[in-house]
Amino acid sequence: MESLEAELERARDLDADELADAIESIGFECTRCGGCCTGYAPDEPGGAPVGEGTDDPDTDCHGGGPDDREPHTATVFPDEVRAVADAAESEYGESYDWRDVARPMPFGLSEGKDGEPAGETFEWALATDDCGDCTFYEETDGQGACTVHDARPLICRTYPFSVALDGTSQPMGEAVDAEGVVRAHECEGLGRDISRADAEELAASLKERAVRELEEAIGVRDGYDPTAAERAAGDAVVFDSEGPKEADGTPIDGD
Ligand code: SF4
Repeated sequence: MESLEAELERARDLDADELADAIESIGFECTRCGGCCTGYAPDEPGGAPVGEGTDDPDTDCHGGGPDDREPHTATVFPDEVRAVADAAESEYGESYDWRDVARPMPFGLSEGKDGEPAGETFEWALATDDCGDCTFYEETDGQGACTVHDARPLICRTYPFSVALDGTSQPMGEAVDAEGVVRAHECEGLGRDISRADAEELAASLKERAVRELEEAIGVRDGYDPTAAERAAGDAVVFDSEGPKEADGTPIDGD
């Protein structure tokens, strides 16, 4: 595997025009199905399409009750958490704190005291509701919508695409299509015509995301402090590029 620094150089050298060519060739138009914003049944890793019926009369989750669903997990960078909180405050007219936007990425965490997560993790995930859906996802008349659309994280702006570089994050599930370094993941909007302008906008975001993911990974690696977990006294510690934080986003100060 290349070093993260070498991969970062490759990400910075990506040709946005070539990425746009690849996206145009694969084709994509968002159908607003909500699949990338919602929890999913274990045998349906693409998410729960909008308007699908529920098996459980006590919930309005699509495709089954909360017990049947894995929560949505989308990586969000620390500055994006703050941007989404600001956008949500404007949208809803109430205060949004870190925990309303993000939670520790659950992979690798265990259950600690009072059922709260414990252990170390290296990413934030968008917060989810009881259905396992992103808390900013809403459905109206069979159409899904993001209520923080203009401030949505890069991972949301670029779904269902990724670039095949080590150290970048890949959406869940195998790639279903590929063109050059661009990978496309499960999505019902793939294969549809896309305008050159939209392909170029998506390509620019895809390149920005690859660079940001690698910068974040380098920041996490360089800021790792094994003593932070002791200071967190059994609670979860999230190491992001700004340093170790508690689950509510509070920085864990050094000794
Ligand atoms: S922030 Fe918006 S686009 Fe991203 S998962 Fe949530 S609802 Fe979907």
